Amino acid sequence: MISVEEAVALILAEARPTAVEQAILSDIFGRALAVPVIAERTLPPWDNSAMDGYALRAADARAGKALPIAFTVGAGDAPGELPPGTAARIMTGAPVPRGADAIVKREDTDEHPERVTFTKDARLGDHVRRAGDDVRPGDQVLPAGHALRAGEMGLLAALGRTIVAVHARPRVAIVSTGSELVEADRAPGPGQIAASNGWALAAQCLEAGALPVVFPAVKDDPAALREAFTRALGFDAVLSSGGVSVGDFDFVKQVTEELGVQPRFWKVAMKPGKPVAFGVARSGAPVFGLPGNPASSMVAFELFVRPALRKMAGFASGWERPRATVILDEPYLHDGKRRHFLRGVLRREGELLRARRHSAQGSGMLRSMVGVNALIEIPESAGALAAGDRVQALLLEAT
Ligand code: AMP
Ligand code: MG
Repeated sequence: MISVEEAVALILAEARPTAVEQAILSDIFGRALAVPVIAERTLPPWDNSAMDGYALRAADARAGKALPIAFTVGAGDAPGELPPGTAARIMTGAPVPRGADAIVKREDTDEHPERVTFTKDARLGDHVRRAGDDVRPGDQVLPAGHALRAGEMGLLAALGRTIVAVHARPRVAIVSTGSELVEADRAPGPGQIAASNGWALAAQCLEAGALPVVFPAVKDDPAALREAFTRALGFDAVLSSGGVSVGDFDFVKQVTEELGVQPRFWKVAMKPGKPVAFGVARSGAPVFGLPGNPASSMVAFELFVRPALRKMAGFASGWERPRATVILDEPYLHDGKRRHFLRGVLRREGELLRARRHSAQGSGMLRSMVGVNALIEIPESAGALAAGDRVQALLLEAT
């Protein structure tokens, strides 16, 4: 049995970024940039007004003095030169006319139809947004491997970069195994349960930036498994749930190995999720045999699958969930030698993060993964922990 860290290292060593493709702006949100973006434009493109007010020569505007209004400049106009000793009415975002070197905002003026008086002196450069203050041609504005989020989308659009090189989202086959499983839209008969893992894992894939395909559930039958895995191995990554334990009908390892998957490890010293199998297909695709218990499969996804998918998706960093030090609300008696991952709820108290165990911890309990925002990590050798003790937690969302 290997440690969590050893397992993550073995997996990341096999994860390769997907192919690079040119994609349009509407299809890149949340993906990883493949090539740095170098600006070819100046932002803002020309000096413009940060306020609704008056453009003028700073030397002309003295408190109490009146200036004639030469013209009005709106956003979208291309004004001519401002005559000395005059002011131009100007709107936010409109080009500053040549000759003007300051803006006085409306609130600091008394306005008349033909002239304007100022309640304050103007200073050179007041409320002028200078050309190139934001971006200059040749600036590297985004590095390769950068995650394209809302701010990046706005910047790319402003630079006119509507087609950019990004990594393909990894395509993930999700194979749920178990003779007891029926599709979620059927009523389970005697001995049957709904195949729920596929839907939870698919959501985790989406959240990680991958594209999941949920296969129909497969019986614990080598021929049926062979057929499903043959198809699944055509994907960038394969996740299966169930059938990797030591039961009489656990055929996933055997079948995937027959299909050319090279096994790398099988068990990890953790709870929940000990029976996790990992191997590499002939294509290089990582193949994860996750346990069938719903909470186990989801926890194993967070620890092992997500980092691989994030690396495959082309992100340069942030493959693993961030960890933070948290303070236990209640004592915890660690039995045994495996690392425990408790489903937890964190809450912020000033600078501190306090951690409460979710009331449901059974690995078969579907509700143990609802309303949870962290996995509280209890080290192998923790022994008896008291309320107030500090441990690490994996943050599943911003807390
Ligand atoms: P296994 O890993 O195949 O031994 O399954 C462990 C437990 O998880 C059993 O109680 C299974 O019924 C349950 N299980 C397996 N696959 C799924 C699934 N896709 N959805 C919900 N529960 C499952
Ligand atoms: Mg099973």
